[in-house]
Amino acid sequence: MTRLLLLGGTAEARALADQLVAAGVAVTTSLAGRVADPRLPAGQVRVGGFGGIEGLRAALADYDAVVDATHPFATTMSANAAAACVAAGRPLLRLERPGWVQRAGQAWHWADSHAHAARLAARLGGRPVLTIGRQQLAAYLPALADAAVLARVVEPPAISLPPRWSVVRDRGPYALPGELTLLRDHRADVVVTKDSGGDYTWPKMLAAEQLGLPVVIVRRPTRPTGVPAVYDVERAVSWVLAADQGQLQRDAGDH
Ligand code: NAP
Repeated sequence: MTRLLLLGGTAEARALADQLVAAGVAVTTSLAGRVADPRLPAGQVRVGGFGGIEGLRAALADYDAVVDATHPFATTMSANAAAACVAAGRPLLRLERPGWVQRAGQAWHWADSHAHAARLAARLGGRPVLTIGRQQLAAYLPALADAAVLARVVEPPAISLPPRWSVVRDRGPYALPGELTLLRDHRADVVVTKDSGGDYTWPKMLAAEQLGLPVVIVRRPTRPTGVPAVYDVERAVSWVLAADQGQLQRDAGDH
């Protein structure tokens, strides 16, 4: 049976683990350990970094195949997975939800980086809501130090924030009524987000649209080349089951 290492931390990774475990695949989901109380998938779970490319390459001795279902902005982990799988000779699949597609009537302003997003937000308003996570908040300090920023995060920020900034801790999925309330209560005049894609955090985009607010959206980083990719959980299930079938045939050939 294929021993699958599933690099997780996303809703898609959990859905994939659930389906593969139900299909009888030996799945180990790997979590970075950033969230104190993560939602756990079916199957085995390991937590914490591998120690770079070399550490991951060594860990791959215990696995036959890898699916990288990390968040679209988790670039280091994806790059490490690509390099380590080549070095260890393990097949790697990238599962990545599609980016969001702008609809008519939505005022989106694309940014190439968080620093760029901060400058755009400062031009567009004085009461931004930041929904870009906590790890990149420092990039927003220079341009938005004097703004009345509301930052929504899962875990508390590790840096000290300017006096006019406030923090709300919450975790998706979110729904439109709550997103409207958040933006209205803060009297937000601009929303900042990453192009995370998916349904979990899409309602804030609808709320911004309803309230006529501009959205600054940080483009996705580039991905490692040469890694086959699928965009939904079903195709990832098929890839793993095909790998599992190949493993069974190899095992049969050994006897
Ligand atoms: P990152 O910058 O790409 O990774 C930094 C380091 O964290 C990696 O080199 C690795 O350490 C460790 N790491 C990351 N993902 C891991 C995993 N699934 N299993 C074990 N170690 C992992 O990642 P990040 O942006 O900090 O994201 C961390 C995790 O949060 C990811 O699993 C991602 O799916 C999830 N997440 C990220 C975002 C986001 O916006 N970035 C949003 C939602 C969820 P070593 O080098 O020691 O192996």
